[in-house]
Amino acid sequence: MFVVTVDAEKCTACGECASACPGSVFEMEEVAVVTDNECMGCESCVLICPVGAITLNEY
Ligand code: SF4
Ligand code: SF4
Repeated sequence: MFVVTVDAEKCTACGECASACPGSVFEMEEVAVVTDNECMGCESCVLICPVGAITLNEY
């Protein structure tokens, strides 16, 4: 399974990851929060995040 994590220290809450994600994995609060993990490992969020706050791991 794929698991994404957001570094809350880096996240600027721009919302790009939430817009790009085909799996509705992110919810925007004060920072991007990973909710339901329907991540399919497409890497869109990792590539689009302007501050490199997102990490994708496969387990
Ligand atoms: S890797 Fe793709 S599916 Fe997974 S959280 Fe990022 S944008 Fe969404
Ligand atoms: S794209 Fe990056 S900086 Fe923007 S909300 Fe998502 S995690 Fe935060």
